Amino acid sequence: MRHRHNQAQTEHDGCRKTHMTDGKRHEGKHVNKRRRRETKTLLKHMKGFQMLVFPFSLTTSPFPLSHLLPCVCRAFKINELKTEVTNHLTMLEKRVELEGMKVMEIEKCRNDIKKLREEIVSRNNSNFLDDNKKLSPCRAIPSYPTYHLSKETMEALRLPTFDAWQWEPSEMLSCLEHMYHDLGLVRDFNINPITLKRWLLCIQDNYRNNPYHNFRHCFCVTQMMYSMICLCSLQEKFTQMDILALMTAAVCHDLDHPGFNNMYQINARTEMALRYNDISPLENHHCAVAFQIFSRPDCNIFFNFDPEAFKQIRQETITLILATDMARHSEILKTFKQKVDNFDYTNKEHVACLKMVLIKCCDISNEVRPMEVAEPWVDCLLEEYFMQSDREKAEGLPVAPFMDREKVTKSTAQTGFIKFVLLPMFETVMKLFPQIEEVMVQPLRESRDRYEELKQIDDAMKEKKKSENLTMDGEK
Ligand SMILES: [Zn+2]
Repeated sequence: MRHRHNQAQTEHDGCRKTHMTDGKRHEGKHVNKRRRRETKTLLKHMKGFQMLVFPFSLTTSPFPLSHLLPCVCRAFKINELKTEVTNHLTMLEKRVELEGMKVMEIEKCRNDIKKLREEIVSRNNSNFLDDNKKLSPCRAIPSYPTYHLSKETMEALRLPTFDAWQWEPSEMLSCLEHMYHDLGLVRDFNINPITLKRWLLCIQDNYRNNPYHNFRHCFCVTQMMYSMICLCSLQEKFTQMDILALMTAAVCHDLDHPGFNNMYQINARTEMALRYNDISPLENHHCAVAFQIFSRPDCNIFFNFDPEAFKQIRQETITLILATDMARHSEILKTFKQKVDNFDYTNKEHVACLKMVLIKCCDISNEVRPMEVAEPWVDCLLEEYFMQSDREKAEGLPVAPFMDREKVTKSTAQTGFIKFVLLPMFETVMKLFPQIEEVMVQPLRESRDRYEELKQIDDAMKEKKKSENLTMDGEK
């Protein structure tokens, strides 16, 4: 059946082929006929046209049709060409329109990519609100090993001479934990000891690995605060709430620091600067991250506080962290100087001002420490500054001279900072606490002298180089 069917199919196909060949032939005949018919019609029209223009017989006319025909044909050809060109033009216009749309789409894609890039950069600048993955993992059991601090270590922790470079992060966590216990804060505020461990771990997680503004800096500032509390017997003058605020603000004061200062944030119009309207963007951010951490019950050392106490600790911590913005240095020190000669511990404003000065002292206290502990911090700070100024140069932003690797030297930077910032502040605090002179102010003076000597050597070297260059230029 299938075979027969196939045969029939072939026959049928064969027929179709013959018909097609015939068809083509027929078609050719038809075309010729049609052309003749068209020419006749054309001639008829021409006749009519000629009768209109030349109202006499075509045969007798002075313009025989045979003369006009090529012209008419040419006219028709031109018309055909015109149509063809118009069609082509329309097609081209459509293509241009399509290409234009493509260009617009590419431009839109480019803008989208740019926006995404900016979003990534801004998200890298801050993990606040959007990217709080560091805050999310919940550690049931704090994982750092608890070190049993020796008696010597506990004693050393109370002094400004403590060398933080000798300790691992987990050891620093144990030291911080010890300070909260030793000051009686865990006992007096009914802080859950496990929550304290978890909170400190979370704090460590939320400091970035910057050359300077990192967890070790957080530890140093808090340890200096602890040693000042001990040295100046602040627990006899302040309430435990004041002590808790001072310690907690010190721990949290640089949380999630991106390694680029407020000037950069403002000039580069970062997400952080936009959020805080250029008003202490970093310090506001450190506070916000701190209280985001406290919003987690398992990390909230204030969990057992009544609402009034929580309100107070929150307000005090915020005030203290915001006071660490160096842009406010002169304003805060000036206010303190006005109060220091008649200082009154029962006056809330006086106490609040002293606390702000204390956290400021601790924040910039490296030069109070022995030279071998203090000096590496200068290198760390300069490394962070140079990273910023290099980026500012690359982005065409203003560069502060004290951050510029072409302009700053260790000796000039430190001499000026100790003479004009550190000594005036510590000497004012010394009026209230004369005991800091020997252990804090004297080391500062020694450090100033050392850097001044270094500066003289640096300057002499520079002069020598300059004169050498001049001689070389002269010889040329
Ligand atoms: Zn700091």
